[in-house]
Amino acid sequence: MTDLRPGASANAQLAARDLAHVWHPCTQMKDHEQNLPLIPIRRGEGVWLEDFEGKRYLDAISSWWVNLFGHANPRLNAALHAQVDQLEHVIFAGFTHEPAIELAEALTAIAPPGLTRCFFADNGSAAVEVAVKMSFHYWRNAGRPAKKRFLTLANSYHGETLGALAVGNVELYKDVYAPLLMDVLVAPSPDAWQREAGESWEDCAVRLFAPMRDLLAQHAHELAAVIVEPLVQCAAGMRMYHPVYLKLLRAACDEYEVLLIADEIAVGFGRTGTLFACEQAGIAPDLLCLSKGLTGGYLPLSVVLTGERLYEAFYDEYTRLCAFLHSHSYTGNPLACAVARETLRMFADTPVIANNRVLAAHMAAAAAPLAGHRHVAEVRQTGMILAIEMVRDKATRTPYDWRERRGLAVYRHALTRGVLLRPIGNVIYFMPPYVITPEHIALLGQVAAEAIEVATCV
Ligand SMILES: *Cc1c(COP(=O)(O)O)cnc(C)c1O
Repeated sequence: MTDLRPGASANAQLAARDLAHVWHPCTQMKDHEQNLPLIPIRRGEGVWLEDFEGKRYLDAISSWWVNLFGHANPRLNAALHAQVDQLEHVIFAGFTHEPAIELAEALTAIAPPGLTRCFFADNGSAAVEVAVKMSFHYWRNAGRPAKKRFLTLANSYHGETLGALAVGNVELYKDVYAPLLMDVLVAPSPDAWQREAGESWEDCAVRLFAPMRDLLAQHAHELAAVIVEPLVQCAAGMRMYHPVYLKLLRAACDEYEVLLIADEIAVGFGRTGTLFACEQAGIAPDLLCLSKGLTGGYLPLSVVLTGERLYEAFYDEYTRLCAFLHSHSYTGNPLACAVARETLRMFADTPVIANNRVLAAHMAAAAAPLAGHRHVAEVRQTGMILAIEMVRDKATRTPYDWRERRGLAVYRHALTRGVLLRPIGNVIYFMPPYVITPEHIALLGQVAAEAIEVATCV
């Protein structure tokens, strides 16, 4: 148990005060009573986090996938300071401000073609709620109210609020709340992990598109939209698939008149090797959800981009009551928009995507030796996301029982070595800030190798 006595360490004292009143996200709080100490962080700089005793941790997971350019980034700090002295917040109905206007201009300039309108919200789940409500409402306004259902992929994740949870498909988060959730259609995931012996990622994606096409054909009359995470299903354990699936999906959505929602909340802003994952398939969705990296990992902000066709379906005399009357108190917060605008300037001013290609090659090299480990079934990568799948039996790809919490053993060991890895079940992954260096990447490879050995030796 953590220690509140005056002689206890600074970390232990803060952890004890925390545990007296704070309830943490995605956490069984009892874990923290025994041998999993909560770590209070005093400061961050670049890829490093530092606790109250001066111990440093390399943030290999970008603090839950949000950070792009390091902690306490000087440019983002300056943008935030400048904005806070000017205007911290203003109601976004009836009023507007430069950070939001400039951010919308910048986003529509870099987004896939046809996405000309920005609806802001304040976190990823809220963006998914907006996309779900907007696509449903679109068909209603278009005189086709029967189109009100959603189609999602197995193992998809779209957030935690009830609408977002309903269109997601990760059992661990969803099952308990099933009685509260709307009913959605589920197609198999094109996840390349399921490929057959000798099958390529591309062939696997094409094969697994067939049931998606069938569902679209069968349910077109009642479908409002399909929602997907382009290229990587992150929360499912960094499951990856070939871009051809998105190309086929775009064509089928057009054919069957179903809207396509791309949730790039985790994969947007360079994570997959292109600015947006959809670019690799050469497609544009009807609605694009962005958050996480949008503010470089500084402040909660999200946006749903869409085009003129949807926008115009809501545009009419007030008394026709067809407007999109959705709002959040902090919609378009100027501080968040100012930092997001600066984040986009960093993509414009510096060769981020090209530099990431070099870093991604270093990540591949650092993890390559792990592929030979007797308990590693696969090392897979899409751009700046690299995942290592630990299994009990390599030949049959039999997973470890989740109750054994092998990933937790990896997490613990990595912490002792000053690295923050936070496996998803038995999947260890690197998803670092883009300011990571080749030396740091080599350290990640070493620590992951050690941690896997520790976690699988018994
Ligand atoms: C994180 C995430 C969300 C939810 O975003 P929050 O800001 O955590 O609500 C939605 N979709 C995807 C793909 C995500 O990774």
